[in-house]
Order: sequence, then C-alpha cells, then structure tokens
Amino acid sequence: MTAAADDPKDATAVTRALNRAVLDALPFDDTQDFDDARRGLLATLPEVEIKNAQGRVVWSLRDYAFLDHVEAPPTVNPSLWRQARLNMHHGLFQVTDRIYQIRGFDISNMTILEGERGIVVIDPLISTETARAGLDLYLQHRGPRPVIAVIYTHSHTDHYGGVRGVIDEADVHAGRVEVIAPDHFMEEVVTESVLAGTPMVRRSQFQFGPTLPKGPRGQVDAGLGKVVSRGTVTLIPPTRVIAQPLETHRIDGLEIVFQLAPQTEAPAEMHMFYPSLKALNLAENATHNLHNTYPIRGAQVRDANAWAKYLNEALDRFGRDSDVAFAQHHWPVWGRQRVHDFLGRQRDLYKYLHDQTVRLMNHGYKAAEIAERLTLPRSQSTTWHVRGYYGTLSHNAKSVYQRYLGWYDANPANLNPLPPVERGGKYVEYMGGATAVLARAREDFARGEYRFVAEALSHVVFAEPSNAEARALGAAALEQLGYAAESATWRNAYLLGALELRQGVPPAVARAPVSPDIVRAMSLDLFFDYLAVRLNGDKAEGRRLVVNWRFSDLDRTYVLTLDNSALTYLADRRSEHADATVALERAVLDRLVLRELTLADAAQRGLVTIEGDAAKVVELFGLLDDFTLMFPIVEPRREG
Ligand SMILES: [Zn+2]
Repeated sequence: MTAAADDPKDATAVTRALNRAVLDALPFDDTQDFDDARRGLLATLPEVEIKNAQGRVVWSLRDYAFLDHVEAPPTVNPSLWRQARLNMHHGLFQVTDRIYQIRGFDISNMTILEGERGIVVIDPLISTETARAGLDLYLQHRGPRPVIAVIYTHSHTDHYGGVRGVIDEADVHAGRVEVIAPDHFMEEVVTESVLAGTPMVRRSQFQFGPTLPKGPRGQVDAGLGKVVSRGTVTLIPPTRVIAQPLETHRIDGLEIVFQLAPQTEAPAEMHMFYPSLKALNLAENATHNLHNTYPIRGAQVRDANAWAKYLNEALDRFGRDSDVAFAQHHWPVWGRQRVHDFLGRQRDLYKYLHDQTVRLMNHGYKAAEIAERLTLPRSQSTTWHVRGYYGTLSHNAKSVYQRYLGWYDANPANLNPLPPVERGGKYVEYMGGATAVLARAREDFARGEYRFVAEALSHVVFAEPSNAEARALGAAALEQLGYAAESATWRNAYLLGALELRQGVPPAVARAPVSPDIVRAMSLDLFFDYLAVRLNGDKAEGRRLVVNWRFSDLDRTYVLTLDNSALTYLADRRSEHADATVALERAVLDRLVLRELTLADAAQRGLVTIEGDAAKVVELFGLLDDFTLMFPIVEPRREG
C-alpha cells in the first residue's frame, strides 16, 4: 500500500452537503459563548506547551493553530468546529470575586478560590506538569499564596491526577493542607482504573483521539476540551470525606455548601455553592454539551434520572442566589436569569433522555430503534450547550436501555449469534463473496450510505483481514462518518478506525500504565480481585492450591484458594492446610503489582518469605496472564 493510499481523503459531495446544512440549521450568529469563554481573561502563556522533567511534551495547543479559521473546512461538522474553537480559550480567568479558573491547560479546568490565608485548589487536572504550570500562572499574577486545601469534585482522573503538582503530601500528613472529596471517592477511583483498566485505556484512544494526527482531517477536539494531557498521574487520598447529602464547611474562611450528587456523571461526585460569592460549581454535571451516560471508552452506565434530579435540586436550592454558574470543564454562565435558564435546560436534557428512552422501551422498541428515533425537542434543538459534542442522544439512549434491560434486545435471533470472524465469513459467503460485496458497497458509498458500507465492509475485513480493497473502502466510509459527526468522540472513533484499517494496529509494546499512587490506594480485597481476573482459566484447569498471605505490617491475613479454575479469597482467615504461607509488607506487594520486583527477586532479597511449598506459589504466578494495551479492534485478533 502506498503512502498516498494511506492518507486521509477529502470530504465527498454528500458529506459537504450534510455539513453545509448544519450552517442553516443552527444559530451561528449567537456568539454569547465566545464572549463568555473570553470573559475575565487575566493572562496566559505566550505559547501553551507544557513538558515533563525529561523534556517530553505532555500538553500543547500548538498543533491546533489550524482552528484560527472561523469557517469550518468541509471535513469538519461546523457545529463541532465551533465547539473546538471555543475550547481553544486558555489561560487564567477571573470568574468572579475570589474565584479564578485555569482553562485550556488540560481537558479539564482547575478552579482556584481565594481564602483568608491562602487558596483552595479544586480539581488539579490530569498531570502534575499541567497542574503546576496552571498554579504557577495563577501565582505569577495574583502573588504568592499557600495552598490550604484541595477539593476533588469527583472520581475521574482529570479531576485529581495532577495533585502532586500543587501540593506536597508531607504537608497533608502534617495537617497543613486538607484534601476533600465526595463519599466513596477512593473506592470509585481505584475500581474504575484497575480491573478493566487495560481495555478502557485502549478504547479511550478512540474516544479522545490522542494518537490521531491533529488537523482538519484528523482530531480537532474532544468535546469537553481539546484532548487529555499525557504527563504524570498522581493521587493523594482525601483527609475529609463529604458523606451527608448537604454539608456546610468553612474552608480557609470561605463558607462552602457541598451537595452530594452520587451516580451522576461519576459514581462519586458533588456540587458546591459559595454563598458569600453567590457562585455555583456544578462539577461535571452541567457543562456546555450533552455529556455521556455511557462514554464510548466503556464504563458502567450512569443514571440519567439521578443526574436530572441533582441538577434540579441544585437549581431549586442555589439557583436564585447564584450570579454565576460554572463547571470543571468549559466556561461559566453569568447572570441569574441565564443561570436559571442554563440549569433548567441541562436538567431537562437528561430527564428527557431518560424518560423518553424508558417510554419507548415500554412500547416495545429496541435500543437501536430508540437511538434512531430520539432527537432533541424543538425547544432545545438550537440551544448550543445541550448539543452532543461529547455524548450523543443515540449512544446515551442505548445506555439508558442497557441500565434497565441490558445488552439483549430479546429477539432470540440475537441471543447467540456467531462471533465476528465466523459471522463475517457467512455474511460474505451469502452475499456472493468479497468481490460482490465490494461492488455493491462502492455504489452505496457513492450514494453516501456510509453507515451500512462501514458495517458490510467490517464483515469482509473480519472474514478476510488482508483484503486491501475492503480495508480501504471500509476506512473511507468511516472517515466520511467522522467528517460529518457533530460529536467529537464519534469523530475520533471513526477516524481512528479508518487509520487502523489503513495502517494496521500500531505495534503492541506497552501495557496500560497504572499509576503508583493508584496501586498504593488499592485495598487488599481489590488486589486479590485483580490477581483473580488475571488467572488464565484454561491453564489453571485441574489445579488446586491454597496459599495463606500474611501482611506483617498491617497485621492481616488472607487465604487464597485456587479450585475449578477460579481464584477466591477470604479476608482475615488462614488455612491450617495451606500449601504455603507468604509473608510480606504492603509496600512490597505494591512493588510486585507495579512490576518493580518479581516474586523470585523479592524472595531472594528476603522481602518475601515463603513457608511450606514455595513451588506452589511460583506455580500460581505462572498461571497469571499479562495484558497488552494495543489489541486489535477493527480487525480480527491474530491468535497463536
Ligand atoms: Zn472531567
């Protein structure tokens, strides 16, 4: 395949027409968002490019200079282009008296409250490097002030990962800095990124597009912000947890009303109201787009009904006293009337999504049918901040269905279909062979039927992965779908799919990174759950073993049993009939999980002692799989 054949193509006439139609359908002359995104700008860096200690760029807006053009190119949906331009605003912004935000230094915002003695940092971005750069910019312009507290609004990485860039853990231990988080924060942080960590990281490449080239034929945005930074991810556990539905605390002299909003955008999340500043912080529940009740990177489905309910409560309780509302992404909304309108529309958006999906479900519609039918009500369709730049009504409706009824549509023809390779083979055979499919697909491509062309060609690729024509035409169809998508996450998914069909899966080198702070935060239960999901059931066939684990520094024991290809454990138990007893300290366990040590090394160096049959412990570790990050998605796995 030549380099030219691999290159992204231009928009077709069909895609151009679709994108042109968007210009007439939406109120592009309403530029209030641009005024709001600029409002309060105090300073920024001459060039936003942030490097780590080794000089590697972890965040840069340089590659997005092409977004200077007001007019969208034919290869980008104009509505998404507008959002991508709005997300280019960067620097230090004053939101209101004593409230500042760093925007455009990562996908998320860092909010800074000025207290009596120092500052409170809310959500220190993803990476220590970007958080530090943001804090430095603030300090340069507002003068030196100590960080008195950090608040995490919720359990997603882009809201805590940079914490070691803004505070020192020694100060937390010494009681000089407080770290505040919503109930269940630590459990949610750790469980989400450990057990299903590898596929989520791989699938995130399709959602955010970090590995796509940036440009009019590549990644332009992620909807919620530009993209995710790629620096050092850290975590310092909270010293204070907000556990009541409403709690009021005085932090560095500032009164803060915390409103828990569990099971919304994150399982552990909270809003905040600052009464003396008449300002409302909605964490990530009211942003300038329709968010995800299911992110396409994969996650447990979120509750759209709870989401609407907590926004309604925030509006009822704090709305009439709020002169400004803002979130930890995007830009604020000022003025009581506008805050009221904004929150009401956001609330109704999630409520409508939930209720209309459930209504149609009760009429017997299937998820795919509901997704196709559901459009914004006319009263909302020209409101910019409810549009699907991040989530879409389509995939969100499927997730509401999934929350109540699961993946199965109840048609028994779909209960046990053939897996992708076998199914692809039969489809291609029934359709008269790959050449016949390609001929039909070319005609449909010319008519702009990209959705079905992409599906049909995927069957061919799964049946015949080396069929270059099928890969090329499949890629071309995905690409046009990407060019017309209003959702940044759909665009990224389509364009990365096209790229991998053209160039194959990049070499599998890395495992999914697990941050040392996350490993340290894992409970022992989670550690044994993590071991268990790595057990290769086939290799374990017929084996039985029992191992006691003693954590000398924690004074805890676990008994681990392998039987019937399943690894189970009991906490605070030991077996008299164990094959072996392993004794170690918690810190050694962390190093084993992080692969800084092998069990054999650790035993040799006396960091782990094994009583009984050490060979059994070695046998157990020999049954564990390793996961590699770059598994194939748009083509079959290569087994063997
Ligand atoms: Zn976020």
